Amino acid sequence: MPRVVVLGGGYAGLACLIELYKKDKSLELHLVDADADHCKITNLHKTFQHPLEKFTVSYAELAEKYHFTFHRHRLDFSEQDLARWHQQQKLLLHKAALPYDWLVVATGAAPIQLDAGPGNFGQNELRRGEGKVLLESFLEPWAEEPLQISLVGGGATGVQVLFELHEQLRKKRIPNKLRLIDQNQRLAPSLPEGGHKYIAKKLRWAGIDYLPGTNYLGQTDSQIQLTEMATGHEYTLPSQLTLQFPGVSAAPTTMVTNAYGQVISMGSTLENILSAGDCSRFDSSGLNSLTAQAAVRKGKLVARNIVRLSGGEKPQTYRYQEKGYLVSLGAVDAIGWIGLRCNLVRGFPASVIKDALETQYDLFLDGVDTYLDFL
Ligand SMILES: Cc1cc2nc3c(=O)[nH]c(=O)nc-3n(C[C@H](O)[C@H](O)[C@H](O)COP(=O)(O)OP(=O)(O)OC[C@H]3O[C@@H](n4cnc5c(N)ncnc54)[C@H](O)[C@@H]3O)c2cc1C
Repeated sequence: MPRVVVLGGGYAGLACLIELYKKDKSLELHLVDADADHCKITNLHKTFQHPLEKFTVSYAELAEKYHFTFHRHRLDFSEQDLARWHQQQKLLLHKAALPYDWLVVATGAAPIQLDAGPGNFGQNELRRGEGKVLLESFLEPWAEEPLQISLVGGGATGVQVLFELHEQLRKKRIPNKLRLIDQNQRLAPSLPEGGHKYIAKKLRWAGIDYLPGTNYLGQTDSQIQLTEMATGHEYTLPSQLTLQFPGVSAAPTTMVTNAYGQVISMGSTLENILSAGDCSRFDSSGLNSLTAQAAVRKGKLVARNIVRLSGGEKPQTYRYQEKGYLVSLGAVDAIGWIGLRCNLVRGFPASVIKDALETQYDLFLDGVDTYLDFL
């Protein structure tokens, strides 16, 4: 019975396991992940309001449903390890060997860390479920003076976190002054220009200060240090808390693959090691952005290719093209495009479509696959 080991149970890793389970019941499936639960991290900004558990599913439950063996283990590795794994066809977990016929590396991306000093908060803290605790901590000490909060990073994730926090602070009547600091001149660069304009207008309406072209240097006590990038002028502003969302980078590194998902390392193709998700860059015309929609499609494709290659068939090329992209701006507003980049959707209708995309992923985890691949 051929054995497939998937390293990393995020969007890509689970899509791969679910597709393998559906396509070939003769495979023995294993998942290795550092955590006990799968986290739907596209919802992390909502954890200021909801408990983290609303967006996690235990791997034990998924293992039972999709007939895989789960190993909770953090396996740190480098490109040299990939070459060694390729030769030995096994991983080493807790000093025990886990041999494999096919290995899929889907370890995702890690948040970029700017400054780990006091008064800093980012994606890792949200992933640990500390969003609600943070919000509750605001209720007491800052009740009189407006709480000054800076968020660094005007990409899609930073913008989603900022509007969600603004909404929760307003609901809880916590006096606050929010500001958005960004090196870029354009908000959410993954959206067309109209997206930037819409978000900038919403920031003005919400009374949130927006500082584009500004570099964050660090935070001490209740001040942040900033540089105006055009002039080099350095200055400080009062701020009790800095939320850091400057982006993510592939973890542990970007794995370049051929058009079928097989990893290319030091000039050689590692035929039995494939990669998918944020940590992979496919050498094909398919979408390589660090997004959940690309991660799911890559995960499904490498699963199908494992089945095809095992059966002596030619693997398929990764060709998935982006169908749209939406950024939420609180509970009832969003901005993005659908179908064609010029087709901007905004406001409540956009927010409904965004929620539908989250539901589509929930359904997928439940075994109902409504993703169109257009391969
Ligand atoms: C707040 C937020 C909002 C987002 N919103 C959207 C959105 O609206 N739309 C969209 O398309 N994308 C969105 N994204 C991006 C999207 O979440 C990622 O592109 C997606 O999660 C990538 O999936 P992945 O499987 O590659 O990695 P992940 O989902 O990050 O999964 C990686 C898995 O690997 C495990 N792992 C990592 N290293 C190791 C190791 N060494 N050993 C063992 N296990 C390991 C981790 O525990 C994790 O389970 C958002 C991201 C964030 C943070």
